[in-house]
Amino acid sequence: MSEIPFRVGLGHDTHRLESGRRLIVGGMELESDLGAVGHSDGDVLLHAVTDALLGAAGLGDIGGWFPDTDNEWKDADSSKLLATVVAEIHQREWKVGNLDCTIFLERPKLAPHKANMESKLAKLLQIDDANVNVKAKTGENVGPIGRRESIAAEAIVLLVQESNS
Ligand code: MG
Repeated sequence: MSEIPFRVGLGHDTHRLESGRRLIVGGMELESDLGAVGHSDGDVLLHAVTDALLGAAGLGDIGGWFPDTDNEWKDADSSKLLATVVAEIHQREWKVGNLDCTIFLERPKLAPHKANMESKLAKLLQIDDANVNVKAKTGENVGPIGRRESIAAEAIVLLVQESNS
């Protein structure tokens, strides 16, 4: 175990958008004409959060833990991937302090869903809703986000050593 009782981790993820796919963000299926292309359910936010946790714990990245060559993770519910990593982190005597994240999507508007996503994430991370913050930005009609070619998410987490609380 590290001598420092806190660790931060950063996560980022991008998925291509196509018609005929589901759009699942933060564990919620959103109504949209375009959905995320991915080996799993393509939940860009849960993937960024999972990577942030792995980074904070010094445990590598989501591709190493859940390879997209592995059929076990085909169309997988990304909340299961995240729950697996949370369990691993708890086993190493870390708990999540807080999560901040941003979703980049041109449309649909995410504002009506942010509180629900925060609550879902808090449950998965086993922390209070007040310690989870979800932000959303459009691409201002420019770049791959603005042209609705992709969706992306960024996340940062703080881990706190269990014995420190
Ligand atoms: Mg991903």
